[in-house]
Amino acid sequence: MSKSCDVLIVGGGVIGLCLAKEWHNRHPKASIIVIEKEPDVAAHSSGRNSGVLHAGFYYTADSLKAAFTREGNLAWHRFCEQHHIPINRCGKLVIATNEDDYQGLDELKRRGDRNGIPLEWINEKDAAEIDPNARVIDRALWSPSTSTVDPVAIMHHLKQQLIESGVNLVFNTRFICSKKNCVRTTNGTYDAGLVINAAGLYADKVARSFGFCAHHTLLPFKGLYIKTAAPIPGIRTNIYPVPNLKNPFLGVHFTLTSDGIAKIGPTAIPAFWRENYGGLNRFKLNELLEVVGWEAALFASNAFNFRSLALEEIKKYNTHYLIGLAAKMVHKLDRRAFSITSKPGIRAQLLDKRTKELVQDFVVQGDSNSVHVLNAVSPAFTCALPFTAWIVDQIEAGSIAS
Ligand SMILES: Cc1cc2nc3c(=O)[nH]c(=O)nc-3n(C[C@H](O)[C@H](O)[C@H](O)COP(=O)(O)OP(=O)(O)OC[C@H]3O[C@@H](n4cnc5c(N)ncnc54)[C@H](O)[C@@H]3O)c2cc1C
Repeated sequence: MSKSCDVLIVGGGVIGLCLAKEWHNRHPKASIIVIEKEPDVAAHSSGRNSGVLHAGFYYTADSLKAAFTREGNLAWHRFCEQHHIPINRCGKLVIATNEDDYQGLDELKRRGDRNGIPLEWINEKDAAEIDPNARVIDRALWSPSTSTVDPVAIMHHLKQQLIESGVNLVFNTRFICSKKNCVRTTNGTYDAGLVINAAGLYADKVARSFGFCAHHTLLPFKGLYIKTAAPIPGIRTNIYPVPNLKNPFLGVHFTLTSDGIAKIGPTAIPAFWRENYGGLNRFKLNELLEVVGWEAALFASNAFNFRSLALEEIKKYNTHYLIGLAAKMVHKLDRRAFSITSKPGIRAQLLDKRTKELVQDFVVQGDSNSVHVLNAVSPAFTCALPFTAWIVDQIEAGSIAS
């Protein structure tokens, strides 16, 4: 016997839960089911990220990322205040570590201004007031609206809210395939009026089952972190380098967690299978062959400078090297304090198979039966509330296209 519902959401990450919340707010009588293959929420990206509420100055003004980061940042600030979830309003410094970086800083300021983001030029003296340990030469960018949160605490809060509002969260249930909107899972079949795919690292595969995502594949990039056991006096704010804006990664940085722990990371190391967090855990031979096949092809053709990216990132398995990169951004660092490896995360990054480029922006495809949220990479956590509200707007307006 199949179970029926108005809306079936695949994936209980931040995107799936915020979609369920938004749909329920607009249609309180609708029957909504979220299927999640893990025993609980926050098992993947949504529970394994840096917890940074980004301000919104990295993204070009024409992007979905730019459209939702500022509003998303404000929305999570309100949510955390309302529900007494800890938030660290420690801001962010973006600093140049060599002469070439100043052009990148100028571009970030231009993007920030276009996106209406509070972002200030500061000199060495002002920077020393924010964090005397930050190694600022000449000038840096100060983002007062960047904060950090505990993403796992937010996920559990969202889960509780949804359960209380009558949304059905079904765990240990994996999407297998779909025929029209009859979805086969490891836990029976579901007949849904609308299927929304928010399956993170498997979103491309779920989309293909509905005939979407023909031109893209997922390329997993692993983010490793190393952290202190307790707050240390040397780091008072988030300190970031100037990223290579051709890639969707922000470079190794210092993050201060919501409880004041300093973290260094994340890396962007090409992973070998989708949930390749460590060792042979969750190893899948078919994924290894597919992912490594793409990585080998990109390495050979050196598309988007993949060869130097991969070689540089692999060096970061060496924690001495990783800490050394972060150390360039401060005057002094007690390297021994960074002794704990923290849970890694893996980015659900899409590759365009036609152009062999990494996709920069979020992608939403679908029709009146199914909608697919693809490339929900950073800052999708920050963007989740307004981004999912926009997706529901698009569904209601019938304007989502393949
Ligand atoms: C290292 C790292 C650092 C980051 N830092 C930040 C940051 O500081 N700020 C920020 O805004 N963003 C950050 N991000 C990005 C952010 O974490 C993600 O964009 C966001 O969590 C994506 O949410 P999601 O719901 O799409 O994916 P997920 O959290 O991965 O959720 C998808 C869910 O779908 C489930 N699923 C998959 N396949 C199936 C299936 N077949 N059947 C049923 N369920 C399935 C999975 O188990 C998973 O729970 C970071 C990401 C990484 C990896």
